[in-house]
Formats: sequence, C-alpha cells, structure tokens
Amino acid sequence: MLYLDNAATTPVRRDVLEAMWPYLTAEFGNPSSHHTVGERAASALADARRTVADWWGVRASEVVFTSGGTEADNLAVKGIVLARQPRGAHIVSTRIEHEAVLESLHYLERFHDAHVTYVDTDETGLVTPEALAAMLRDDTTLVSIMLANNEIGTVQDVASLAQVAHGVGAAFHTDAVQAAGWLDLNVASLGVDALSVSGHKLGAPKGIGAAYVRARVGVEPVLHGGGQERSWRSGTENVAGAVGMAAAVRAAENERVSASARVTAVRDRFIAEVLRQVPGALLTGHPTRRLPTIASFCFPGTSGEAVLLELEQRGVVSSSGSACAAGSDEPSHVLTAIGIDPAIAQTAVRFSLASTTTDENMADVATALAASVATVSGLGSA
Ligand code: PLP
Repeated sequence: MLYLDNAATTPVRRDVLEAMWPYLTAEFGNPSSHHTVGERAASALADARRTVADWWGVRASEVVFTSGGTEADNLAVKGIVLARQPRGAHIVSTRIEHEAVLESLHYLERFHDAHVTYVDTDETGLVTPEALAAMLRDDTTLVSIMLANNEIGTVQDVASLAQVAHGVGAAFHTDAVQAAGWLDLNVASLGVDALSVSGHKLGAPKGIGAAYVRARVGVEPVLHGGGQERSWRSGTENVAGAVGMAAAVRAAENERVSASARVTAVRDRFIAEVLRQVPGALLTGHPTRRLPTIASFCFPGTSGEAVLLELEQRGVVSSSGSACAAGSDEPSHVLTAIGIDPAIAQTAVRFSLASTTTDENMADVATALAASVATVSGLGSA
C-alpha cells in the first residue's frame, strides 16, 4: 500500500517514540510536583519548549503546548481577541481556513458580538496584500490567515500580509499546521504575532501541538484550571508528547531544506504526468507557491469519492481533501471559496507526499490514477 495522505496524519517516527518512552515509563512525573520525580519531568518539558522556541526563534516563555493544532488555533484566535477586545471585535480572515479557525470565528461572532470580514483569495487560493488592506479597519483586532492550505497547498506571503495588518495595529495569527517541517517558521521572518502547529503532521503522535503567542500580545486562556503553561493553558502537561514533538521538530528541521527540494521535484513530475495522462485533469491551488507535499486535482466527469475507492483497490491511499470533510456530501469549502463550481469540487482528489516518497512511487500512482479516472468517468455527478 502506498500512503499518500500525509496531510491528514503521519506515522510516529521511531526516534520520536524512543525519545518519548522514558517519559511514559520511569520518568512519569508531573512537572508541577516539587520533588525530584516531578523536577525531572519539568526539566524535560523545559528542554522540549526550548527546542520549539529555537525552531521559531522566539522566547521559551512564548511557547504554549496544546493538545494539537485545533486547540492551538482556538487559543490563538479566541485568546487574542478576548484578551484585546472581549466584545465587538473586528477580525479579518479567509474562507479557506481550517475549521479550527473558522469555527473559532463563528464562536466569537455568536457569543462575543465579533464581526468577521472574509478577504477573497484569487483562483489559486492566494490573498494579496492589497485585498487584505481593503478589508482592514482602524479597529481591526486580529487577522488570521493560514501559511499553507491543507487542501490545495497554496502558500501565502504571510510576511507581507502581516505587515499590512500591523499597519492598522491588528495582531496577526497564522495556522502553520501544514507548513511545519516543510517551510521556514522563523517568526521574525514571518512577522507574525501568533502561530499554531500540530505534532501528528510531522512524525509526533496525535494529541500534542503548540502555539506561539507574542508576549506583549498575550492571550485570554481557553482552558481554565491549575495555571500551567503560564496560565495560558491549564491542564497537566503532556510531557512525553512535548518531548516527542521536540524530537520530531529536530528531525524535520535537520532535513527540511533538502527534503523540501527533493519532494517538490517529485511532486512536480507527478503533476506533469497526471496532466499528461488524465484527460480533463485540473490542478487546484497555486502552480508554484504551494507546499512541496501537496498535489491536488479535480477530475470533471467523475466523483472524487469513487476515484478514491478505485485508487485504494489499486493500492493507493489518498483523500478527497481535508480529513475533517472526508465522507461528507458537501463540496469542499476551500475549493468553492476559490471559485470552483460545487459540482467540480465534488471530483477533488488530494495526494499528500512524505519525505520518503519517490518518483517510482508517483509514476505508479499516475498510472493507477489514469486507470481509476477512466473507470469512474461518466458515473460521477459532474
Ligand atoms: N489546521 C490545519 C491547516 C490542518 O490541516 C489541521 C488538521 O488537519 C488542523 C489545523 C487541526 O490540527 P489537529 O488535527 O492537530 O487538531
């Protein structure tokens, strides 16, 4: 079986599991305990926090460990808005964000009278600084725009967008869940005030993530309790998860530049091959400003779900888009937001590669895909 759904989740790396093992067994302490067992856990947590802080080029005190990307997005979006302007805030975002951001925005609208303006993307999923500037107001509190999209892979020029947002005094958050391990997440280069990542997208287990929050921006906590994580996120810390995430970050960063170049080349040859072999195939997202790992298409005249089933019978596991939307009859909110007809959006298939994916793998996938689309053609809804 060839697994090409790495944007949904990745397997835990062996070195990550080995790094975590002591903190699940002998070194099981609670980092808040004032004895040696607790202190050793606290020290491991501090080391993990330092690794994540160095990854982003920020202070360790600005790193918050969370249960994953969803919680990191919730903390950044709700937390910054509630800390700055608990009622009636103006927020700017896009319609191609992950549900973790979109639903946090809906919550702020429903319960805190927030007003959200959505800036349009172009047909490749890009937001231009001019389009963002046109949506900003003098009282805009927060702008949240993802670094890389999980369905179409489009990578935003976050540095330029953050600069525009700062022009009106708004804080800028970026969801970097899909970018982690593939793009540079240096906060000074990105110019962001908050950023979210998730461990299970880069070889750590599910259930650990992290957020950066600029100290002078701050957040109102979403989880209340014992005051862990500088009171930004209460709850006994997932020490083993944090240690695993740090190990995954070190491994991913060591090979990031070379892996990104290699996977980009494999992806581009695959895209060219699909466009050559599959009649009517449409590439979705930006042709060049895209994550190395994501090749996403629509195949008009098919049904995406039917193509996926055919592919799986041929040993290829992929997805119609985001794992959250998988199995739903609704067309992807991302594809419709970039102007794709809902009927065509139902024909979407996304391949998300790993650092180990080879040209030979993808040549086999292109052949399997051409056969799958041919089998399904004419049976779909579009
Ligand atoms: N943001 C993006 C862009 C994602 O792709 C995902 C997961 O697919 C999330 C947030 C949510 O992360 P998690 O699964 O860790 O909650």
